[in-house]
Amino acid sequence: MRRTSYWACLARGHLPYTIDWQYQDEIQQRVPTLAEMTHAALRSLDQGEQGFLLQIEGGRVDHAAHANDAPAIFWDQLAFDDAIREVLKFVENREDTLVIITTDHGNANPGLNGTGGSYRKTNAAFDKLFDMRASYEAMNQRWSKRRIEDGEITRDAAIEVVREGTGIELAGKEAAVLHQALNGDFSGEVFKQHRSWVGVLGEVLGNHHGIGWTGVSHTADLVWVSAMGPGSAQFRGVHRNTFAYEVMCSLCGISHHNPTMTAERAAELAAVMPIQEAVWA
Ligand SMILES: [Zn+2]
Repeated sequence: MRRTSYWACLARGHLPYTIDWQYQDEIQQRVPTLAEMTHAALRSLDQGEQGFLLQIEGGRVDHAAHANDAPAIFWDQLAFDDAIREVLKFVENREDTLVIITTDHGNANPGLNGTGGSYRKTNAAFDKLFDMRASYEAMNQRWSKRRIEDGEITRDAAIEVVREGTGIELAGKEAAVLHQALNGDFSGEVFKQHRSWVGVLGEVLGNHHGIGWTGVSHTADLVWVSAMGPGSAQFRGVHRNTFAYEVMCSLCGISHHNPTMTAERAAELAAVMPIQEAVWA
C-alpha cells in the first residue's frame, strides 16, 4: 500500500474568526472554512485501511466567549454546525463510524436578557447581532493602528471603530468607559472578571444586543454530549466535561487513571511550573 502523509498549516496562529472571514474578501481567499477542512480531512483519512480518529474543533467559539464577543460566537458556532453537516454526510450510509459532539467546557456563560417593557424589545436587540460585521479582534487591529497614528486611542476613534464594526453608535457614559478601558483604565469596573477592555466592551454592547456574561473565564458547567453510530447510546445527556473521554477509553478497552499526589508535592510542582494568568486559555 502506498502511504501518503498530509500536513496543512493554514494560519500563523489561530484561524481568523468566521465573522471576519464572512466580511473580509482577503481572508476568504486565503483561509478555507471549517466545513471545507473537515471535508478534505475525511476524504483523505477515508483512504486508509485501519480506520481513523479525527478531532474537529470549533475552537474560536471559546476565544469569542473569553472576549465576550457575542456575534463572533454565533458565526463560529454556525461554522461548526456546517462542519457537523459534512461529518453527517460522511457517515450517512455507513455503520462503522462513531460521531461524538460535545464541548470541553463552558465559558463566560452568555445569556440573552429580556429587555424593554414585558421584554418586548428582546427580539429587536438580538437582531442587532446580524448587523455586526467585525470581531473584537478585527476592531482591536483598527484601534492598534489608531494608537500608533495618534499616540493614544481617542474617544472619537473608540466610537468610530465600534460604529464600523457593529453598527452601534456609542455616546455618553458608554463611550466614556470604553475610551478609558481601551487606554488601560478600568477604575470604574467593580467586577474583577470584567476589568479588561473586552469585558467592558462586552458590557457596553450588551446594553444593545441584550447578551450578558458571567465573566471572561471558563466556567464549571456540565457539558452537553451527543453521539451517533456504534457505542453512541453511552454518550447521551449532560455530564462533567471528563465524561466523553472516560467513555471513549472504556469503548477502546483502555483503563486510565490520572496520577495522584499529595498536596505538598502538588505545591512543590506548582512552585517550579510557570503558571499563567492568561485570559486566552
Ligand atoms: Zn478557553
